[in-house]
Amino acid sequence: MEINDINDKESRKIFDIIKDYARRHSLFVLSYGTGCGAIEIPPTMTSRYDAERFGIAGRATPRQADVLLITGYLAVKTLKRVIRTYEQMQGPKYIIGFGSCTINGGMYWDSYNTIKLLDKYVPVDVYINGCMPRPEAVIEGFIKLQEMIKTGKANGWELYQQNLDWYRANQKKVIKNWNMPDYNW
Ligand code: SF4
Repeated sequence: MEINDINDKESRKIFDIIKDYARRHSLFVLSYGTGCGAIEIPPTMTSRYDAERFGIAGRATPRQADVLLITGYLAVKTLKRVIRTYEQMQGPKYIIGFGSCTINGGMYWDSYNTIKLLDKYVPVDVYINGCMPRPEAVIEGFIKLQEMIKTGKANGWELYQQNLDWYRANQKKVIKNWNMPDYNW
């Protein structure tokens, strides 16, 4: 039987509950080490904090990843790679902004070439503040994301599609050499 063959309302509801449970407990992360915060990822993933017990595991390609973890400040040229990477991921997909730099530029707030307010350019579902956030804070951020998936609030990827013109205008305002293919859903 195919998933789309489930027409009965009650069966569909049960299927969605199981699907959401599986989804939030198998978050495959494409770690994008944009800033110094990336140094906290190895201890988060290895034996001391063992993020995999929460179903959080690394993936090497955007095609297999659910979560884009942006681990710090973004220069304009790095933002371009982040956008390209994010758009190659399959939905549902989520973004976690890691560290104060992703929220307001952090210690680079006054830099001519560093992005502030990351969610003007890509849809951030969860921010983890701190400079740099410790592994406990990283895991708490993932738990927050899991709760949002459970309650249907982790819908940044849908808002990105719905408001693509707004995001594109913001992206193209800062990325002057825009020579990427326009993504087509
Ligand atoms: S928030 Fe702090 S640790 Fe993270 S990228 Fe910025 S300066 Fe580095």
